[in-house]
Amino acid sequence: MKKHNFYAGPSILPQYTINKTAEAILNFAGTGLSVLEVSHRSKEFVAVVDEATQLFKELLNIPDNYSVVFLGGGASTQFAMVPFNLFVKKAAYLNTGEWSKKAIKEAKMFGEVDVVASSEDKNFSYIPKGYTIPEDADYFHITTNNTIFGTEIKYDIDSPVPLVADMSSDIFSRPLDVSKYAIIYGGAQKNLAPAGVTFVIIRNDILGKVTHHLPTMLNYKTHIDKESMFNTPPVLPIFAALQTLRWLKDQGGVEEMNKINVYKAGLLCNEIDRNSLFEATIKDEEDRSLMNICFVMTKGNEDKEKAFFEFATSKGMIGIKGHRSVGGFRASTYNALPVESVKALIATMQEFEQQNS
Ligand SMILES: *Cc1c(COP(=O)(O)O)cnc(C)c1O
Repeated sequence: MKKHNFYAGPSILPQYTINKTAEAILNFAGTGLSVLEVSHRSKEFVAVVDEATQLFKELLNIPDNYSVVFLGGGASTQFAMVPFNLFVKKAAYLNTGEWSKKAIKEAKMFGEVDVVASSEDKNFSYIPKGYTIPEDADYFHITTNNTIFGTEIKYDIDSPVPLVADMSSDIFSRPLDVSKYAIIYGGAQKNLAPAGVTFVIIRNDILGKVTHHLPTMLNYKTHIDKESMFNTPPVLPIFAALQTLRWLKDQGGVEEMNKINVYKAGLLCNEIDRNSLFEATIKDEEDRSLMNICFVMTKGNEDKEKAFFEFATSKGMIGIKGHRSVGGFRASTYNALPVESVKALIATMQEFEQQNS
């Protein structure tokens, strides 16, 4: 039976990426060696990093005064690396979920953190609006897509201070105005590559302002100067990321991806709103994520949750269990998820409704 992969992360990748990576595990770039066993300084692998960097810039329209680096450590290391490189006297954060909270926790180790707004009062089920960003903050940090709770800031906000964004789970899902951001970072394992590589897009002039000691590995400049080759980068995940970037370009880039993502999320949200057994946890459509769609059983039908999970599993739906802090279900509809999988989930929800009414 066909499996439909709705995992939140690591998550579905384009079949193209998986096929090309499998081929390179056997024979990388005609070298007669596996990509698992080549030097990161071989000319064949340097070409991979160069092309991946180039495609990042091309697909996201990144201006010339920015650098792109590929690091280890996951997005979670960036929670500390951002303040290490930018925190002088005060930072501002928007608290929209578990990942924001973790980022805030790290920043607090460096000094004063102004949490300008939070949606924790309603279990992070909305995006706060109408807050004021303090003009004396060194930077303002947001999480654009809240993977666990299913909310998303789907536009580029204006900030009077350098804007830093964790885009782990919505990078390449829509066009971006990169010039509005000072730093964009993310773990690649949601929408780009297998786990192990973290991308960071940095406006070069933002660096060099802190006076405290910066450990070499945590200094962005180290990695910019050595073009991600200061130490051994995650070779295989970078190779796979390059395949996804090529696939993205072939699909028509982020504009085209966004159209498909809006279409997929629209189909599923319409069904959740229509189906008498399910309801969306995010009420305001403006705040609903295009990448992680969370829903629960309607009032009076809570006892059918387990039965639906088992029914959906029997139909090949994988990874739809909601995060423990939300409950219910979460369907992750990343770039690589085919429309066909969304339709299969909808058909499953409709069949379950018929059987239970
Ligand atoms: C998954 C995720 C993280 C954590 O990423 P790691 O690479 O596991 O450290 C951080 N932020 C967001 C928005 C995420 O979805």
